Amino acid sequence: MREVIIAGNWKMYKTREESEALIRLLLSLPAREGRSIVVFPAMPNVSAVVDAVRDAGSSIYVGAQNCHWELEGAQTGESSVLMLRAIGCQFVLCGHSERRRYFGESSYIVGKKVRAVLVGGLRPVLCVGETLEERQACRKLDVLRSQLEGGLMGLDGEDTNGLVIAYEPVWAIGTGATASPGDAQEAAAFIRKTIVEILGKEAENIPVLYGGSVKPDNISALMAQPDIDGALVGGASLDADSFAAIVDYQR
Ligand code: PEP
Repeated sequence: MREVIIAGNWKMYKTREESEALIRLLLSLPAREGRSIVVFPAMPNVSAVVDAVRDAGSSIYVGAQNCHWELEGAQTGESSVLMLRAIGCQFVLCGHSERRRYFGESSYIVGKKVRAVLVGGLRPVLCVGETLEERQACRKLDVLRSQLEGGLMGLDGEDTNGLVIAYEPVWAIGTGATASPGDAQEAAAFIRKTIVEILGKEAENIPVLYGGSVKPDNISALMAQPDIDGALVGGASLDADSFAAIVDYQR
C-alpha cells in the first residue's frame, strides 16, 4: 500500500495572521485515517504554522516551498535544509514549475536540492511536468524523463526514503484546465516506471501525486487512477472548505 498524500501549496499568498487562521480551520477538521496532509506556507509563515500544528497535537505536516542546496553559506535570501529542519519543517518542494520558470532552476539545480533535502533528513517533493508547447510537440514523456533523471541524479533506491514525486503539467497549473484522469494516469504510470529504472525496485512505493487545478469536483476521478497516490493543490488549498473537501474525497 502506497502512502496517500494531499498537499496544499500556499505559494506567495497569506500573511502570517491569515496563514494562522487557515491552519486553525484545517486543524479543526476531523483527521482522515490513512491520508497524510501537508501544507506549504510562504517561508516567513512556516514557523507560525508549525507552532499551530504542534500546539494542536495534529499530524498535519508542514513544508517549505524552496531551499538552498548548501547547508550554510554566503547565499543572500536563501534558507538551508538545516534551518528548515530546525523550525520543524518536514517536507520541501523541489523544482516547482514556477521556480523553474521564474527563477531559472534547471534540473541540475533541482537535483542538488533534492539531494540536500534527503541528506538533511527531510522529504523532498520533486515536481515534474511539461509545458503546453512541449505537450503539443509530443515531447511530454521525454521532458518527464529528463526532469526525473536530473532531479534524481546521483541517487539510488537506498537514498530515497521519504521521496515524493508530483506530476504537475505546467499548462494545468492555476489555469482551471485539469489533465483528464486518463492523461494524468498515463503520466503517473510513466513516472513510476522511470523512477524504478533510475532508482531500482525500491522506488515502486514512492508516492506519485498529481497537481494542476485540482478541485473538490475532480479529485475523486483523479484518485481513482491506479498510479495516482495524492494531489498537490495550489489555488484550492487557500480556502479551508475546498481543501477539506479535497482531503475528504470519496473513493
Ligand atoms: C501548484 O501550485 O502546484 C498547483 C498545482 O496549483 P493549482 O492547483 O492552482 O493549479
